[in-house]
Amino acid sequence: MAGRNTLSVEGIVILSREYRDSDKSIIIFTKDRGRLSFVAKGARKLNSKNRSSTDLLVHGEYQLSKGKAYYVLNQGQVIEGFMNIRKDLLKTSVAMTMTVFLNDVLVDNMSQKEVFELLIWTFNRLGNTKDPKFLLRYFLIKSILYLGHQPNLVACNICNINSDNYFYQFSEGNLICDSCTKEGFCIEADLIKIYKILETDSFDQLKEFEVTKALLEKLDYFLEKLIEHITDKKFTGFDYLKKLTFEV
Ligand SMILES: [Zn+2]
Repeated sequence: MAGRNTLSVEGIVILSREYRDSDKSIIIFTKDRGRLSFVAKGARKLNSKNRSSTDLLVHGEYQLSKGKAYYVLNQGQVIEGFMNIRKDLLKTSVAMTMTVFLNDVLVDNMSQKEVFELLIWTFNRLGNTKDPKFLLRYFLIKSILYLGHQPNLVACNICNINSDNYFYQFSEGNLICDSCTKEGFCIEADLIKIYKILETDSFDQLKEFEVTKALLEKLDYFLEKLIEHITDKKFTGFDYLKKLTFEV
């Protein structure tokens, strides 16, 4: 029975840090309450019952007590450890990019059920996919949509025409055609098209045009800048992928 000072939550560990001598400082993305922090006392000891449930990326069930300043973990149970992700360097890096994004955008005590379900869905597929970075782009674009920050990529915000070349202005979140302005982030029609395909799940359209490596790199850059505008801070999530020097 959960009393007044105890709490039982289901969540995914999105940050796991060493704390004091043998503790861990944890942030989980909970199903019902958004982001939630707690301390797992002694969880770094080899014989701790809470050692594995507090590892990064673990989906678990957590019984917490409210301390004076923060929640403390009584007991955690692993629901899914996602070993297929954690044994693969690229997949781990992709998952860590997602957790950095979630730490930046989520708010304490604010449920984001659609994003939570999307994360579970994505982690399950990430274990088996041959294209982890495609799944990452899909996750980021869908999350941005569910969080209500989707960019306006429909038509020029000034003259309302459809053009082949636009500039995107992050500060206003506006798309403006190259007849109306020469300033902003140059965004070509193909970039808008791939973004919309991922945002609207219209994958059959992928057969119609060639998705080049250069286009995907530009999409990643656009996502990075978009996230930085949403969170008003530097987005470091892609750093894990940039550190992988081999071709992916
Ligand atoms: Zn225009």
